[in-house]
Parts: sequence; structure tokens; C-alpha cells
Amino acid sequence: MKDTREGAVPHTEARRSASEGLVVDEACVRYGASTQVLTTVSLTVAPGEVVALVGANGAGKTTLARTVTGMLGFHGGRVTQGRVHWAGQDTTTWSAPRMVRSGVSQTLEGRRVFADLTVDQNLVAGGMTQRDRKALRERREWLFELFPRLKERYQQQAGLLSGGEQQMLALARALMQFPRLIVLDEPSLGLAPKIVMQIASTVKAIREAGTSVLLIEQNATMALSIADHGYVLAHGKVTRSGPGRELLADKDIQTFYLGLSEDDANRQAELDRAVGAADA
Ligand code: ATP
Repeated sequence: MKDTREGAVPHTEARRSASEGLVVDEACVRYGASTQVLTTVSLTVAPGEVVALVGANGAGKTTLARTVTGMLGFHGGRVTQGRVHWAGQDTTTWSAPRMVRSGVSQTLEGRRVFADLTVDQNLVAGGMTQRDRKALRERREWLFELFPRLKERYQQQAGLLSGGEQQMLALARALMQFPRLIVLDEPSLGLAPKIVMQIASTVKAIREAGTSVLLIEQNATMALSIADHGYVLAHGKVTRSGPGRELLADKDIQTFYLGLSEDDANRQAELDRAVGAADA
């Protein structure tokens, strides 16, 4: 693992060559005329990987999510340098609907669901772009296995679900689009540790089902403990990258990059052990 606190971590050729996955290559991003939010950010999600992007508030994580899902223009941002490639195509300027059609779905920060619709209607809305009814039926069954609480509540109005259930529904709705890559923006935000552990297990199940995951999180311990590879973003630059567990084991990262005190680091380590135990 390379320690380059002074600047961005170079993108290794081995990771960049994942041409069938997502490759962000030295992207710079700006909103309007304001200052640059991302500076020469490089990141790869290879097929079948869970990749974590962690960093403190305001580091630019959501901006990176917008950059790879076609949402940047909608928020008044643009890529001023560098490129984004997905499945071998230059998708830097693609719209969000085009990204979804090409296999990239997302859940937004703040677990947006259609609050007035039922759980089932939310799922139907998620699968609207799909024509294959049999595949949709099977996917719905799989999602109900993955999220038994949603099955129990499938006729309930989504706005009345708990925070954790709404997060599950947001995830399930995105999975109804049959993505090959799913981008999750802060899925654990504001949720109790037990629910955070369920989210971690779900992310692993999604990977096992063949979908790659870009997991954007402030909860670095949860994200890095399940990630094949991780990137630390600080002030718009990737300052560290490496296998998730390797980054996680680095006390320096916990205290220096993620702003955790020694106590926080110990609490996070406890949660990490609990996630591991729950999966054993
Ligand atoms: P958080 O964890 O708080 O969501 P983050 O790491 O996701 O933070 P971003 O939301 O990407 O960070 O924000 C990075 C910077 O970009 C912040 O300074 C923010 O104010 C700015 N920013 C975000 N969205 C816009 C926008 N639409 N227009 C202008 N500036 C923006």
C-alpha cells in the first residue's frame, strides 16, 4: 500500500486494466464556477468486486457517485479533465437513464423511496424499464428472500417503514433494474449498528449474485471490512488505496484520514468483529 499523503495515489496499471468494469481515470470535477471538488481522482471497480470509497464529510464522495452514474449535470457539475469508462465505453457525458440502461444503478444518499406507494409498487417502479416478466418475477422472489422484512410488509406504504427498511427498499428497487454495477451512497447513514450489519451482509449477497458494488460510506470500518478494494478520499483526492482489510488494519488511516479518535477506532473495531461473527 502506498502512502502518499502529499498528493493523489497513482492508479496502478493492474487496476486500470479492468476494462469491463468501471474505470475513473484522473477525473477532475467542478460545480459551476466554484472550486474544484474532485482532483485527478482515479478508481476502478472490476467485475464482481465490492469497492469501498470512504472519507470524511465533504470529501467529495457523493460527487464521485454522481460522476459515475450520470447525475453530475443534474446537480450543476461537470468533469473538466479525465474520463469515466464503463464496460469498455467512454461514459463521461452519459445521462443517468443511459447509465441505468447500460447496467449501472444507484441508491441515493438519504434512502429515497416513493413514500406514498406500497413496498410492492416501489419494486414495480424499479423494474419498469425491464420487459421480461418472468425475469422480473424471479428477481422479486430473490429480493424477498434477501429482504424478508420487505416481504412481510409488501402491501405497506413505504413512507411508514422504519429507516432501515426504507434503506433496504431503496436497495431492492435499484436491484429491480438488474444492474451489473450498483452504486450505494451512504447506505448505513443514521442506522443502528444491527441494521448496519444487515446492510453489510446484503452487500456481500449482492456481490455473490454477480453484481459489482461501489460502496460509498462514512462508516469506514463497515465498508472496508467487506470491500475487496478500498479508496480513501480526502479533500477531493484519493490519498490511499489498497485491499479493504489492509486499509482497515492501518491505525493511521483511522485516526489521520477518517478523523476517528482512538475510542472511535476501538468501537469501530468491535463492530467489525461483530460483522465478521454474524457472517461466520
Ligand atoms: P457528505 O458525506 O457530507 O455527503 P461527501 O464526501 O459526499 O460529503 P460531497 O457531497 O460530494 O461530499 O461534497 C463535496 C463538496 O462539493 C462540498 O464542499 C459540497 O459543498 C460541494 N457540493 C456538493 N454538491 C454541490 C452542488 N450541487 N453545487 C455546488 N457545490 C456542491
